[in-house]
Order: sequence, then C-alpha cells, then structure tokens
Amino acid sequence: MSDDKPPIDPDADPYWAGVAAGELRYRRCKSCGAAIFFPRSICPKCGAPDPVWAVSSGTGIVYACTTVHRAPHAFADRVPYTIVLVDLEEGFRMMGGVIANGRGDDDISVGDRVIVTFKDGPEGRPVPYFEPA
Ligand SMILES: [Zn+2]
Repeated sequence: MSDDKPPIDPDADPYWAGVAAGELRYRRCKSCGAAIFFPRSICPKCGAPDPVWAVSSGTGIVYACTTVHRAPHAFADRVPYTIVLVDLEEGFRMMGGVIANGRGDDDISVGDRVIVTFKDGPEGRPVPYFEPA
C-alpha cells in the first residue's frame, strides 16, 4: 500500500462513495424491508441476499450520547468529544461524532433532532458526524 490508511471493505465501496459525495447511504432488504446499517450484502434480519442501496435523509433523533475523555490514540488530540447513537428516519441506528454548531457538545441530549454532515476523520477521509437540526 502506498499510504497508511486502513483498507476499506470492497462491499462498502458504495457507502464510502456516498460519503465522498455528501450522501448517507444504507441498504434496504428487498424481502423483509429492513433498513440495514452498517451496509452488508445479506440482510441480518431475514438472511435474504443483495439488499438494495438507498440514500438516507440524514435526519434522526439522538438515541444515546456520551462524552469521551480517554480516547484511542487516533482520537487523543480531540478529547473531550461527544459521540452519539442516532435513530435515522429510515429505521436504522448508527454512531457518529458531533458538531455542536456553537453549542457545547454537552448540550447534545437524548431526544434531540440532528442531521448528518461529513468531515475528515483521523484517517484523513470524510466520515459522518451529526449536528443539531
Ligand atoms: Zn430481510
């Protein structure tokens, strides 16, 4: 490899292409209708293959949040920072960082409405973050 970025799962290429284009992509099962995140090639609910790709609105409700004070090495220069679990409108839950938009990270609470945005992560490629909607 010519750089030190971790490899990306080829099955997730459409997801990362979406992130690069400013879209939050997920998969939806053609058999049972389940929203699937992190995208996988087999539905974790019913086992059907080849769920279709879809684009999320990126809006959702904070299900849980925590502020990290002792971080893994790659995030050590960012402490303290807040991460959230968000229930997206399309019916899946995902984790992301928080951009507080002038609010303190601690002002993000369970039940807050948020929207996804993208900013460079520690590996230098964009990753999903959430900000107040
Ligand atoms: Zn299914």
